[in-house]
Amino acid sequence: MRIVSLAGGIGGARFLRGLRAAAPDAEITVIGNTGDDITLFGLRVCPDLDTVMYTLGGGINPEQGWGRDGESHVVKAELAAYGVEPQWFGLGDKDFATHIVRTQMLGAGYPLSAVTEALSARWNPGVRLIPMTDDRAETHVVIEDDRGRRAIHFQEWWVRLRASVPARQIILVGAEDAKPAPGVIEAIRDADVVVLPPSNPVVSIGTILQIPGIRDALHEKVVVGVSPIIGGAPVRGMADACLTAIGVETSAQAVLELYGSRLVDGWLVAEQDAGVALDGVRVQARPLLMTDLDATTDLARAALELAR
Ligand code: GDP
Ligand code: CA
Repeated sequence: MRIVSLAGGIGGARFLRGLRAAAPDAEITVIGNTGDDITLFGLRVCPDLDTVMYTLGGGINPEQGWGRDGESHVVKAELAAYGVEPQWFGLGDKDFATHIVRTQMLGAGYPLSAVTEALSARWNPGVRLIPMTDDRAETHVVIEDDRGRRAIHFQEWWVRLRASVPARQIILVGAEDAKPAPGVIEAIRDADVVVLPPSNPVVSIGTILQIPGIRDALHEKVVVGVSPIIGGAPVRGMADACLTAIGVETSAQAVLELYGSRLVDGWLVAEQDAGVALDGVRVQARPLLMTDLDATTDLARAALELAR
């Protein structure tokens, strides 16, 4: 069986661990979100790709859900001692090594997809991880504060401001000119089923869907997914602030409508959202909390069964 999954960071990566366990013989291709990518201290950082890679490769900080296990922060402290900004983005020493290798390879002319493949070789994630695009397409957020109306990088809004300032607009800068990375459209075309993890519907999955060609390719496939919203709130993080920015209510029903029946064929919601319905979509209620690997594997299995 060939499975394609689209993934953001923590929610995507956790789900993928369950998917890999639920379908051990399947060939799984993961299309990763790169809208969160940012250049810091001259280094290219791809937070969502790394979260997937570290989580599936056993190198993640399990409490935090991102970054490396057993991490130290000597470089960060030294940069701060020089007064170098930004100081709000937490990069650990082991993590720095990943970004150094990536930046070196990009500088040598390799596309991000080739770099990601090379980095993944160390981690053996058990899936093929491809960035959504090799082109630069970064999410920016339009905010309004005492300095007026301006666009800031998604990470500044998410990490520094903790999404506390309302987003007027969320824009994937460069989306129109971006092409899917090599292998993305082919993987979708060859897939028996496409699974959407409970990743952020706006700035993770919504971003991937904005790369020209990806959504159209998905319309031809059986697509099943898992609600990131349970009982009117995100399970973790600030997805509600992203949904509000695009005028969508934070509810399981509204998120399913946002994806729509053209894209989605089957959808899993939490038991308390059992009333959710949309014409043309098979909706089932299941325990949706990815509390441990067993629960997550059951969830992934339910998604695959829904696709049958
Ligand atoms: P990020 O890039 O690190 O923000 O991660 P993702 O976009 O992949 O996933 C974030 C989303 O995962 C959030 O909107 C959460 O609501 C959702 N999420 C996190 N944990 C769970 C869980 O246990 N169950 C479900 N259904 N959703 C979850
Ligand atoms: Ca992310």
